[in-house]
Amino acid sequence: MSDSKPAGRTVLASTIAKPYIDEIEHGVRELTFTPTVVGLLANDDPAAKMYATWTGKTCEAHGFRYQLRTCDKNDLEAALVTANHDPDVHGIMVYFPVFGDNQDQYLQQLISPQKDVEGLNFLYYHNLYHNVRFLDPPHNEQKSILPCTPLAMVKILEYLGVYNKILPYGNRLFGKKVLIVNRSEIVGRPLAALLANDGATVYSADVNDIQQFTRGDDLSHTRHKVVELDPEEYSVATVAPRCDVIITGVPSENYKFPTDLVSYGTTVINFSSAKNFDDDIKLRAGLYVPSIGKVTIAMLLRNLLRLIDNQAIRDRKADKT
Ligand code: NAD
Repeated sequence: MSDSKPAGRTVLASTIAKPYIDEIEHGVRELTFTPTVVGLLANDDPAAKMYATWTGKTCEAHGFRYQLRTCDKNDLEAALVTANHDPDVHGIMVYFPVFGDNQDQYLQQLISPQKDVEGLNFLYYHNLYHNVRFLDPPHNEQKSILPCTPLAMVKILEYLGVYNKILPYGNRLFGKKVLIVNRSEIVGRPLAALLANDGATVYSADVNDIQQFTRGDDLSHTRHKVVELDPEEYSVATVAPRCDVIITGVPSENYKFPTDLVSYGTTVINFSSAKNFDDDIKLRAGLYVPSIGKVTIAMLLRNLLRLIDNQAIRDRKADKT
C-alpha cells in the first residue's frame, strides 16, 4: 500500500459530541430548574484555571449554571461540605491536584456520590470494575454513573462503529483487540475494564508492564479477568500491529507512539493533552481521533442529568412511602 495519501479519516471530538450535546440541551429544557455545577479551585495552577474557565463556558453554553468557587487549599474540605449540603448545587467538581498526595483522594471521595458529576466516587468505580450497571438492584431503575473520560471513550468507539450493534448489549466488542497505553486509576484501568466487560481483549500498557483484560466467563454481570503478560513475549511492539484499536494517554510531549507499529486501517485515539502521534499516523489509521476533551465534557453534563434523574426516582419513592 502507498504511504503517500491518507485513506482514512480524522474525526473531531466536536463531531462526536454533537448528538450528545443536542440530547443534553433537550434534557435541560425539560427540567423545571437550572442545574448548577460548582467548580472548586484551590490551587494556582494556570492549567486548572483554564480548564475551570472552559468548563464554565461549556456549562453555560448548554443551559447549565456554573459557579467557580476559589479558596485556600486548607479551606477546601469545608467548601466541599457546604456544596454537598446545598440543595441548589447539583454537581460538584474539584480541580486536582490540590495537596498532590493521598489527601487529594480523601477530598475526591468527600464529594457526595449524588453530586459527583465526574463519576469518580469509589461506589461508581466499584460498580464499573464489577460490571454492575444499576445503583438499585433488583429494581434497576437508577443507572450507575461512569467516570467521564472512560465513558467518553466508549461513546467514541460506538460512534466510530467499533461496537457491533448487531451483537447483544454487553458483548458488542466481541473479538476486538484494543491496546491502551496508560493505566492510570482515572482513565486507563477503568477504561480497560469497561471495554473487557463489553467483550474486548484489552492490552493495557504502562511504563512498567503489559496486562491483558478480558471479560468474565459468561454474559451475566461477571467481573473482567486480568493477567500479567510475559514481557519476553508481549510488549507494545508485538501487540500493537494485531490491534483493531489503539488508544494512548501518555502525559508527555516527548512521547510518540511509533507509527510503524500501527497496521493500516486501525482505529487510533489519543486522549492525552500531549500529542502522542506524529502526523503520519493519518497515513495508517482508518479513523483517527486526535483529542477527546469535548466528548468528555459532554459526558460530564450527561452524568449531571443522570444524577438528577436518579434523585427524582428516589424522591418519588420516598413520597410513596
Ligand atoms: P497519569 O500520569 O495518572 O497516568 C499516565 C499513565 O501513562 C500511567 O499509567 C503511566 O504508566 C503511563 N505511561 C507514561 N509513560 C508511558 C510510556 N512511555 N509507555 C507506556 N505507558 C506510559 O495521567 P492521567 O490522569 O491518566 O492523564 C493522562 C493524560 O490524559 C494527561 O495528558 C491528561 O491531561 C489527559 N486526560 C485527558 C482527559 C480527557 O478527557 N481528554 C481526561 C483525563 C486525562
